[in-house]
Amino acid sequence: MQLEINLKKIQQITKEKENENLSFHAFLKEQDSDKIDTIVKRLNEELTPQISCLDCGNCCKNLRPIATNEVLGRYVAEKDIESVRYVIGFSCSHLDGNKCTIYSERPEECRSYPYLDKDGFVARYLGMLQNYEICPIVFNVMEHLKLELGWENN
Ligand code: SF4
Ligand code: SF4
Repeated sequence: MQLEINLKKIQQITKEKENENLSFHAFLKEQDSDKIDTIVKRLNEELTPQISCLDCGNCCKNLRPIATNEVLGRYVAEKDIESVRYVIGFSCSHLDGNKCTIYSERPEECRSYPYLDKDGFVARYLGMLQNYEICPIVFNVMEHLKLELGWENN
C-alpha cells in the first residue's frame, strides 16, 4: 500500500471516510486492545521513518496543546485527554517554515506527538481521529491497520 502524504488529499479523504472511520471504531472495540496496540506500534515504527516531518509541519501549524497531560489528568479521564488536548487552528509561534526553532527544548507534548507509541489506541481512538486528518503518520498507520486486520467497510 502506497503512503499518502498529500495534506489536501488527506483532508478530502477524511471527509469521505467519516462514516467508515466511525464503523472502524465499532469494529476495533470488539478486538483485543493489546493486540491492536502491538500492531499500531509496529506500523508506527515502520512508517514514521518514511514520512518527513520537515516536509510537513502540519501539527505545528494546526494544534496548540492547552495543558500538559499531568494537568489535564486532574480534570479529565485518561481516555478522554486526547480529544480535549488541543485548541485547533493555531500555528505555533516557534515555527519557522516547517522547522521548530526550539526543537531541542520543545515541550513534552510536541516530543510525544502523535502518540502512536502509547498504549490504549482503541480507548483513545476518537482523539486519534482528530490527528488522522492532520498528521500523515496517523493517517497512514490507520489505513494500514485496516488493511492488516482485513477490515472492510460494509
Ligand atoms: S514548540 Fe516546536 S514542535 Fe512544538 S508545536 Fe511549536 S514548532 Fe511545533
Ligand atoms: S503532522 Fe505528523 S507528519 Fe506532519 S510534522 Fe507533525 S508529526 Fe510529522
